[in-house]
Amino acid sequence: MIIVMRADATQDNLRTAVERVESLGIRAHISRDTEQTIISVIGDQRLVDPQAIEALDGVDRVVHALHRFNLASREFHPQDRVIELPGGVRLGSSAVVMMAGPCAVESREQLQETAEAVRAAGVRILRAGAYKPRSSPYSFQGLGEKGLLMLREVADDLGMAVITEVLTPEDVSLVAEHAEMLQIGTRNMANFGLLRAVGNTSRPVLLKRGWGATLEELLLAAEYILAEGNEQVAVCERGIRTFETSTRFTVDINAIPALKQMSSLPVVVDPSHGTGRAELVAPVARAGVAAGADGLLVEVHPNPSQALCDGGQALTPVGFSRLMKEVQRVAGAVGREVS
Ligand code: PEP
Ligand code: MN
Repeated sequence: MIIVMRADATQDNLRTAVERVESLGIRAHISRDTEQTIISVIGDQRLVDPQAIEALDGVDRVVHALHRFNLASREFHPQDRVIELPGGVRLGSSAVVMMAGPCAVESREQLQETAEAVRAAGVRILRAGAYKPRSSPYSFQGLGEKGLLMLREVADDLGMAVITEVLTPEDVSLVAEHAEMLQIGTRNMANFGLLRAVGNTSRPVLLKRGWGATLEELLLAAEYILAEGNEQVAVCERGIRTFETSTRFTVDINAIPALKQMSSLPVVVDPSHGTGRAELVAPVARAGVAAGADGLLVEVHPNPSQALCDGGQALTPVGFSRLMKEVQRVAGAVGREVS
């Protein structure tokens, strides 16, 4: 439920409405933009009598949200939410934001070489995993804190920001210390303790869709982060599991415009995990941008056949710079630029 205040409502009117909601033991979350002030009612909505709220001074109307999520919804926040990243990068704006790098930090040399290549191609957000969520416990699990420090050093050296995955609530503060953006992987989309933990940081979060999750489940997961007070959440379509086995996952292109309609959160597409095949990454990246994605997350490796993780989907530096040019052309055709 959302309470929309009138344009001429006073601070006192707003305080009274919030106090009325909170007196029922329910949380009230205020959102203000240039056009309106909105109160999102978080908790058991059945306790609230909409007519009694509408009778309060300064209240314009009570809107029943179309969805089970409030803070992530378009009704609550009609404008696109924009996440500000270092270097003037704005995720959710007219520019398509590129995030690229290896699947995992393997060594200082591998990271440096990849980061230099993507930086030269125009990328300002470096991606790489230090903590890797592998399907098998016997696979390479990442370099952990050592990898995180390498990531920080290499990124600082090149003037880049870092996005990297955090796997457990215990690691959140360490990862948040070294990375500008926290990634929640597909396997952790519904790890509610972890969602709450990143919701309590001041770092932007990229929340990946669970490969078996509906869009509503994805946005409810985002709601966990938003409800903790962290408003900087972007969601990522990274492919869902279907009956198709010739690709690793199936990129749900529908999800991009659908998420943009349901929610004001930026939407990122990951064509690397979404296809699992390097030769399909650029075409699907182009499709993602054409469908309205706010950003792309792409895996690059200087020597894919030697990669410790996800080599089959990694682009070489040359392949990546070709992708950048193609994406720039598609972005231009739909009135966007690439940053
Ligand atoms: C990744 O980005 O490296 C990753 C593990 O992604 P996902 O959680 O989508 O599998
Ligand atoms: Mn990967």
